[in-house]
Amino acid sequence: MIVKELFANLAILVTLLFIYSQLTKKSPLNHHSSIPKKLTVGILGGLLGNILMQYSMHIENIIVDLRLIPVILLAFYGGTIPAFVSMTFIILGHFLFGMNASSLVAALISFLVTIGVVLLVRSSFSKHTKMILCLTWNNLVSFFVISFFIKKSDFIPVYWIISYLGGMIAFYMINYLRSIHLLFEKYKKESTLDGLTGLNNYRKFDDIFNTLIKKVDERQEQLSLLYIDIDHFKKINDQYGHSNGDQVLKQVGEILQNSTRSFDIVSRNGGEEFTVLLLDCPLNKAYEIAERIRMNVEAYHFHLSDKTIHITVSIGVACYKETTIVADQIIEDADKALYFAKNNGRNKVCVANAVL
Ligand code: GH3
Ligand code: MG
Ligand code: MG
Repeated sequence: MIVKELFANLAILVTLLFIYSQLTKKSPLNHHSSIPKKLTVGILGGLLGNILMQYSMHIENIIVDLRLIPVILLAFYGGTIPAFVSMTFIILGHFLFGMNASSLVAALISFLVTIGVVLLVRSSFSKHTKMILCLTWNNLVSFFVISFFIKKSDFIPVYWIISYLGGMIAFYMINYLRSIHLLFEKYKKESTLDGLTGLNNYRKFDDIFNTLIKKVDERQEQLSLLYIDIDHFKKINDQYGHSNGDQVLKQVGEILQNSTRSFDIVSRNGGEEFTVLLLDCPLNKAYEIAERIRMNVEAYHFHLSDKTIHITVSIGVACYKETTIVADQIIEDADKALYFAKNNGRNKVCVANAVL
């Protein structure tokens, strides 16, 4: 019977922890989380402890279950605050059953385990050693307190085994899910951002562009595109080296962000080519922004490892529907305008189909 009930505890613990970590995968609890978050997660841990208590075993008036595993995990990942909040809720849960000797014993165990675990988590042992020590502390406290109040020796080994097992499985699962979520978020970010400039990469640009041209007619908005290419960038690489070339690309990215509106979409489409998608922006305004970018780049002192240099950019502008009637041709038209700017002396803004 003991095994059956503890197994039910284990199943509930694992299932609810899994659901919790799925729901919070975007911002998992850590020691730097905000106080409201620590309080909320502490309360959730307390509720989980109380659910586990519903499936606990009663041995000579002593209640035994895995309710303190959530407290250990909270101390581990979120520190003192969530651990103590969940402990408080668990103790309150004991007293809901009635203020008697067994609920006082259970409250004493919860309190001693939490204090010890919070101190152990602050020690300099490795993560895994700390977890083993926390589970051992949980078992030792339960062992001494329960042995003191009841004399039932066959209960203890089973409790130790299931408690270690429950703790290790819960710890392993949470650790595993957290690292999977972290990697997922990292790769998701890397797949859409350019590593050098932090701007959108070509894939992200393409995604946004395709979404925008589908909506642009529905919303009856205009959409402008600037296609920007650094002039004679190859010479910069040849003269100052590739890593200085990278510094120039980075600084161009910063100028583009500082010269556009916060909701415009700035991307590095490849090599030394950048684009800015200007949302709901007519041609004359797009031209103005392009000129501002061109002048800002021309005036900027680009910092290389041991000197500053000046560079220029050429820009092609296209606007749906002022220069381009078919929305998905706007890229081609802006590119053609850029080509025109290159062939007409560089450091220029040219408009597609010579509309301006
Ligand atoms: P134009 O004025 O006609 O645009 O001439 P350009 O030299 O800028 O153009 P070109 O296409 O001949 O050369 C682009 C150079 O950009 C060549 C390539 O080595 C360099 N490049 C591409 N990607 C990177 C990068 O990530 N870092 C650095 N440092 N250079 C890059
Ligand atoms: Mg170039
Ligand atoms: Mg180029």
